[in-house]
Amino acid sequence: MTGKKLDFDAIVIGAGISGLYELHLLRDRYGLNVKVFEAGTGVGGTWYWNRYPGCRFDSESWSYGYSFNQEILAEWNWTEHFAPQPETERYLNFVADKLDLRKNIQFSARVKSAHYDDNDESWTVTLENGESYRSRYFVTCVGPLSAPTYPKFDGIESFEGESCHTGLWPKHKVSFEGKRVAVIGTGATGVQTIQEVAKTAKHLTVFQRRPNWCTPLHNGPISSEEMEEIRGRYPEIFRLCKETASCFVHNPDPRKTLETPEAERNAFLQNRYETPGFGIWMGNFKDMLTDRDANKVISDFVAERIRERVKDPATAEKLIPTDHGFGTRRVPQETFYYEVYNQPNVELISMLETPIERITPKGLETSDRSFEFDIIIYATGFDAITGSFDRIDIQGADGIKLKDKWKGGPTTYLGMMVKDFPNMFMVIGPHTALGNIPRSIEHIAEWVAGAIHHMHQNGITFADPTQSGVDEWTDYVAEVGEGLLSNEIDSWMTGINLNVEGKQTRILARYSGSAVEYRRRCDKIAEDGYTDVTFTSRGGVMANANPNH
Ligand code: NAP
Repeated sequence: MTGKKLDFDAIVIGAGISGLYELHLLRDRYGLNVKVFEAGTGVGGTWYWNRYPGCRFDSESWSYGYSFNQEILAEWNWTEHFAPQPETERYLNFVADKLDLRKNIQFSARVKSAHYDDNDESWTVTLENGESYRSRYFVTCVGPLSAPTYPKFDGIESFEGESCHTGLWPKHKVSFEGKRVAVIGTGATGVQTIQEVAKTAKHLTVFQRRPNWCTPLHNGPISSEEMEEIRGRYPEIFRLCKETASCFVHNPDPRKTLETPEAERNAFLQNRYETPGFGIWMGNFKDMLTDRDANKVISDFVAERIRERVKDPATAEKLIPTDHGFGTRRVPQETFYYEVYNQPNVELISMLETPIERITPKGLETSDRSFEFDIIIYATGFDAITGSFDRIDIQGADGIKLKDKWKGGPTTYLGMMVKDFPNMFMVIGPHTALGNIPRSIEHIAEWVAGAIHHMHQNGITFADPTQSGVDEWTDYVAEVGEGLLSNEIDSWMTGINLNVEGKQTRILARYSGSAVEYRRRCDKIAEDGYTDVTFTSRGGVMANANPNH
């Protein structure tokens, strides 16, 4: 023991949806002295950084907000069924003010390293500005999609126009009026961006590598009367989210695709296509994401809708995926996305046919053409799930680096703890249920806060999961992923990012079983006194429990 006083009981990284709630729980429910370090200048995490044009929820707004606080539910009004980014950022600022969270958050504070000290069982967290702080507990709330990645194109720095990554979008308004714009990437983000940019750009060129299956969002405004009606249904909405496998309000249909008579099947698929949000993905025939023949039926159905909506048959074919079935990668939700390609100011370039070879000062060159642009938008995604951890030098017991430990894929206990990283907890780390993410966040943040409270209350200074607990959990994560077609496909959900060294092979990145079962297992473990976690109390000096530190 060094006996040096700790600066805080707990340090939390990130003031997004996870970090805000974790701070509230640890400080207000359990009376701990907590500090949150946040790289941005404001709260919001994903909803702070992703301010690109067209950014909005793909989850129903009223199923996405926090459910734990009746005053927040009573006072906040959503104005659209799938709220745009500015509204969500306002919402998270409202929550931060309501719960008086800002006083414990240090903004513009990017964490460079976090090292565990074996001697006094504490963490030392160092910021990029050189400041260092020590705490007993260390909680990562860094988000699964928060480490933006750029393609490794030659000449990327040479472009003389404006270039922006969607995940690092500037705060100033970027106007596309009269501009020649390129969008590279057609994932969920690219699709939202393209629809918006196409409205005003003089010319938009979309560079698509692998096409995705996109389906209509069917967004709409929420009147004040409807908001009152929704408010009355909050208990029912959140109960439903607790009962579904992915925490959305959509439940799979109990019928099997090919056992359903054709006319009935087609009518149902059309109904799903017309249902707002992820009804078509989460609320489709129950075998759609596990049975290849069933999956082909829905893929063919969506392909036909694309052919109907895109006038030029060659362009339509370029937009139809041939390397993966519907729903096996994240389904981008769209609003007249396919119709964009009928506009005279929009051109689609398939990078599978003519790849980008270099970025030039004036634009870019593909294998067969040169293009000139005023703005290049990179909608090229994230080093997902483990990327935000990799960007911080996290070292556990005996100086072991988390990045090295996870080289062959992450190993975790419940997706919340890592062996040899004592007293470190992850809210939405690898191997946790994602889905309608705030629903998972609330559960995990509560579990983590409960474990920390258990330690604090009982004078426990060291918590580390057992190797057998980690092995069992990691095996279980593999087991529940078996048979899911999505786990056979390259995407961020299987840990692939071709722009990042060492991320070319699929890993077990996320828990793909039911969130209901995930919560049941985690809660049982907590009720049983945190089975498979080694706790010890070696004494030591704890920080003052002054919640307003
Ligand atoms: P993404 O799904 O990983 O898509 C990245 C896109 O960039 C893909 O089309 C990819 O092509 C392309 N790309 C990447 N590197 C490239 C390169 N070197 N050359 C050419 N193309 C390249 O990322 P995202 O669209 O940012 O979405 C990530 C996740 O964020 C989503 O799946 C979703 O979970 C979340 N999200 C949520 C919302 C919401 O809820 N409202 C909105 C947007 C995003 P390939 O497919 O060929 O690799």
